Amino acid sequence: MVDIDYYEILEVDRNASFEEIKKAYRKLALKYHPDRNPGDKEAEEKFKLINEAYQVLSDEEKRALYDRYGKSGLENQGFSGFEQSSYEDIMDFFESVFGQAFGRGFGRRPRSDEKYPLDISIEIEIDFQEALFGTQKEIEYEYKTPCPACKGTGAKNGILQSCPECHGRGQIYYRQGFMTFSQTCPRCHGSGESATERCQECSGQGYALQHEKITINIPEGIDNENRIRVQGKGNESPSGLRGDLYIYVHVKEDEHFVRYKDDIYMEVPVFFTQAALGEAITIPTPRGERELKLHVGTKDKEQFVFKNEGFKNVHTGKYGNLIAQVKLIFPQKLTQEQQELLHKLQESFGVESRPQEKNFSSIFEKVKSWFGK
Ligand SMILES: [Zn+2]
Ligand SMILES: [Zn+2]
Repeated sequence: MVDIDYYEILEVDRNASFEEIKKAYRKLALKYHPDRNPGDKEAEEKFKLINEAYQVLSDEEKRALYDRYGKSGLENQGFSGFEQSSYEDIMDFFESVFGQAFGRGFGRRPRSDEKYPLDISIEIEIDFQEALFGTQKEIEYEYKTPCPACKGTGAKNGILQSCPECHGRGQIYYRQGFMTFSQTCPRCHGSGESATERCQECSGQGYALQHEKITINIPEGIDNENRIRVQGKGNESPSGLRGDLYIYVHVKEDEHFVRYKDDIYMEVPVFFTQAALGEAITIPTPRGERELKLHVGTKDKEQFVFKNEGFKNVHTGKYGNLIAQVKLIFPQKLTQEQQELLHKLQESFGVESRPQEKNFSSIFEKVKSWFGK
């Protein structure tokens, strides 16, 4: 692994002030923003590093750690940078610094001459174990390309005329009292041009549908609220630019395992004698078989924690726990022999097997006194 220097990335001095760092970050992040460099892998990588560097250097604690121990010092504290992060995470971070105005949608709104938005969103369903371990998925979907017959205009032969509604201005004006207001022309959506005759090929829609098949990486630990952004896989504009594809992930529920935040819960049926004896039992966990060591007197609903065997958090990279909860099972029927054995067992415990006598004795006395004698 190449050790990258965060100060070099942001082009600042090692003793730069927070203000200087922020200023440098602003300048570089905007320069390398993917919306300004569509399809440029190098810029994308650079943008990622700039955000990572700023995340560290803008935080006093992280910066001090980094200054003293380098990146490995941060990694020891659970900071993993953006190396494994999804595009979304980086954009989320960027937005958290710049605010919504500069984030998603920055330079990306469908222009007035585009007949359809460039971003697409689709939903996919994955299984519990796919979310746990991460997976690759082949996705098939349709995206829009400008109709070749009308070049995406929706007009017959691509011939557009000045919009009759706004007379080519793109805006219409209306008066209210002594004030004049303007708004985007609803007919031409501000382009000032409109079709006198509709394109036959696309019925005036301006696009044709293309089939696309891509393989995406679903990161380990992904959850229902997460979405994956695949850059440049959205609809194609008449100018040849492609928007982004947003994939909303839905994780199917599992029969045996339940996710709560980054933890996994499972219920383990335990026979009362196993609990009483404190046996060690083998349980099937999502990550393979594990030994669950019960202790003498294990209770119903008691929880046993297997550290770091839960989900990986896609933001922090830390693992949750696996929590095995005991469900005590008692026999519903007894054979003659079992009854005798249990009686024998009960007698062997003596007074311990009759806790009600000891715990309730004062209450018995009290109730008796209510009735006199
Ligand atoms: Zn057409
Ligand atoms: Zn118009």
